[in-house]
Amino acid sequence: MNITRRNFIKATGLGAATITLGNIGCSSASAQGYSKQLKIKGAREVISICPYCSVCCHFIAHVKDGKVVSTEGDPGYPVSQGALCAKGSAMLSQINDNKRVLNCLYRAPFSDKWEEKSYGWMVDRVAQKIKETRDKHFKEKNEAGQTVNRIDEIFHLGSSQMDNEELAVTGQAMRTMGVVHIDHQARV
Ligand code: SF4
Repeated sequence: MNITRRNFIKATGLGAATITLGNIGCSSASAQGYSKQLKIKGAREVISICPYCSVCCHFIAHVKDGKVVSTEGDPGYPVSQGALCAKGSAMLSQINDNKRVLNCLYRAPFSDKWEEKSYGWMVDRVAQKIKETRDKHFKEKNEAGQTVNRIDEIFHLGSSQMDNEELAVTGQAMRTMGVVHIDHQARV
């Protein structure tokens, strides 16, 4: 049998539970009845990533009938070894919260209403605003007459969930446009 870290924890956890139940006089039949009620029984395990910081802890989502019914830290992830902080531990309620925003929302300037838009519409809108801002503010020379080819009016903030290659491409794209104010969420 291939003993993985996760299999070992499952096996030893079951052993501990059996000893404890025996010691307090529970029958194996009642233990089996209880196991049938476990909400993760029959669920599919999907490894996902906590989106909240650069540690990128993996967690296991138990999915049943298309719905996440439980989440827990992934002991197989070497960085956190199954541990989650308070934010990661609250993942289940965040996934299933009925106030969770599932679509792109746009609020026009001076409006008090949010409108639902497609991702395509949002990308076009951002591209259009970047172009307008760059056309208006791009500086070829500074006050001393030196060539700078820069724009101070656009700031780019990267995400800790981006990998090296994505960051390299994004950094190059920003510098190509003359953006010099660049930072990263993991450093803030
Ligand atoms: S569980 Fe906490 S430490 Fe891990 S990625 Fe999420 S926010 Fe960061």
